[in-house]
Amino acid sequence: MGENTLVLTRREAVFFVAVAVAAPGIALADSDTHLKVRLLATSDLHCYLEAYDYYHDAPEDTVGLVRIATLVKAAKAESPNALLFDNGDLLQGNPLGDLIAIGGPPAKGAVHPVIKAMNAMGYDAATPGNHDFNYGLEFLDGAIKGARFPYVLANVDRKNGTSLLPPYHIIERRFTDSAGKSHLVKIGVLGLVTPQIMMWDKAHLEGRVTAADIIERARRYAPEMRAKGADLVVALCHSGFNTRPAEGMDENAAYYLTEETGVDAIITGHQHRIFPDPSYANMADADVNSGNIHQHPTVMPGFYGSHLGVVDIDLVQAGKDWRIVGAKAEARPIYHRGDHGKITPAVASDAELAAIVAADHQRTLAYIRQPIGRTTRPINTFFATVGPDAGVAIVNTVQRWAVAKALKGGEYANLPILSAAAPFRAGGSPGPDYYTDIPAGEIAIKNVADLYLYPNTLQAVRVRGAQVREWLEASVGLFRQIDPANPAPQMLVGNGPSFNCDTISGVTYKIDLTKPARYDRNSHVTAPDNRRIADLAFDGKPVEDDALFIVATNNYRANGGGSFPGLDGSNVVLASPDIMQNVIADYIRETKEITPAAEPNWGFVPIADPVEVRFQSSPKAKAYLDQHKSVRWIGPGENGFDLYRLDLSAA
Ligand code: MN
Ligand code: MG
Repeated sequence: MGENTLVLTRREAVFFVAVAVAAPGIALADSDTHLKVRLLATSDLHCYLEAYDYYHDAPEDTVGLVRIATLVKAAKAESPNALLFDNGDLLQGNPLGDLIAIGGPPAKGAVHPVIKAMNAMGYDAATPGNHDFNYGLEFLDGAIKGARFPYVLANVDRKNGTSLLPPYHIIERRFTDSAGKSHLVKIGVLGLVTPQIMMWDKAHLEGRVTAADIIERARRYAPEMRAKGADLVVALCHSGFNTRPAEGMDENAAYYLTEETGVDAIITGHQHRIFPDPSYANMADADVNSGNIHQHPTVMPGFYGSHLGVVDIDLVQAGKDWRIVGAKAEARPIYHRGDHGKITPAVASDAELAAIVAADHQRTLAYIRQPIGRTTRPINTFFATVGPDAGVAIVNTVQRWAVAKALKGGEYANLPILSAAAPFRAGGSPGPDYYTDIPAGEIAIKNVADLYLYPNTLQAVRVRGAQVREWLEASVGLFRQIDPANPAPQMLVGNGPSFNCDTISGVTYKIDLTKPARYDRNSHVTAPDNRRIADLAFDGKPVEDDALFIVATNNYRANGGGSFPGLDGSNVVLASPDIMQNVIADYIRETKEITPAAEPNWGFVPIADPVEVRFQSSPKAKAYLDQHKSVRWIGPGENGFDLYRLDLSAA
């Protein structure tokens, strides 16, 4: 390369390094003619056609196939030998998907709106993800029938042993090489999905289909595709990365596909992350600059249409075969995140696709604004950090309801189910408008995000009594220590995020604010001799250290979010693929009318006067003082908040 290196961009330089590494034995001079093949991919679109958040009923620049369509056109213009794939989790995940599913499988001749959009964009092949099974096999079949491109899936079999869908498809396409000569190129596309569909969609799948190991099927079919003349083997693998040794039937097996499985390029997903990305810099044998893992180009293109996967493969002719001499992958974003998290769109919506999806978008807007049930009382989080709260209680109620349903009849069915939830919107640094505030009356889908801000999924962990106690100790680190001898006003709530202040429903306990916090804001033990949690009881009796409990929570907390003691993903007994906003909407639909009430299961150990404990909340909280006998309004506070007093003398 010599002097020429100087004129290469950084990305190109990285690319050429990958060439040398990937094919050390190939003498490039044998063939000056290169054939560049570009693979484009989406994954985990979850029905996000428009750049719109239906839970907040607001435009959203981080999502939308209409934005991806612009990136696809640009990527094809740069490199015309291109194919476009989708990697699944397509038909479910937002109210547009739910609305279509309520109507049942698409009628004969009708095309699912997401498939209609993909037909217009000229997709070349796709595989289903785990969520595409959520509405049952008939629905999936009906959706696939509308696709003007092949669907492939190699690791789900019917009861009679035949494959549910064709395991692979070999696309034959005329591509033009660097000398302008046309070649017939065969690209084999293999479909794979996480086998955990059998657990998550048991009701739809058990007795009808079985799932097989991803790697086993890749090893079986990659050579078969090669024998049928495939010049390239591409895996559409709806599964993510796990670098621990494979155990068989792994949920996340895409990393293992980059080892010797016969697959040339891997499209991954399911984990809703981005690869290549600096966040994977420490993943073994991964090159986050060139997008290669074990020298195999690999891409994970985000979620909800946040990124387009772009894989470039450089081939030279060797006899009658094509040999890979280099490859790179990148995930191109539809937006950039700047200072203070400010989002700037990187591309405009494609007008052609926006017109195609417009009618279904409008139907969805009408749907999310329609009531799904009602609440007899207002739901707000104005006092959620200073006492039992109805807004937190409703989340705990829903979590326990959903976990009890999921664990019914299984090995954990006899354990008591507790539930942990924190107020997500409870003032603090985001300001005095940052509270859940839903008036009594009808609840529409668009209100659900106000109740539950994050797209977390439902999970449950199995823990001992001692772990429940530590969990609570870490949660109450949000509170400042109160000096019982100090008559000057003392502020109660510290600067930490309220989302790490879980309350645990199903047990009763008191919090002693006169003790220093056992855990700091990063959940490190700072006062090992101190405990704030007192009188922890279940069913009226003290909680034994070795008693077993199930705790309903979310994927964030269960897998180490907030670094809570004993929560690292190893004791998860239920990892539901359902996002909490959908679970809450289901609960409201089923119960039709809810009467949210604070669960009076916790409080503070009384501190006698003259101590005066204060906290800040929204000025709007004044209207709800009748529900909180120990709270009194003081007057305006800082930064638009009002100041309140919490009387702890009879707490
Ligand atoms: Mn997904
Ligand atoms: Mg998935």
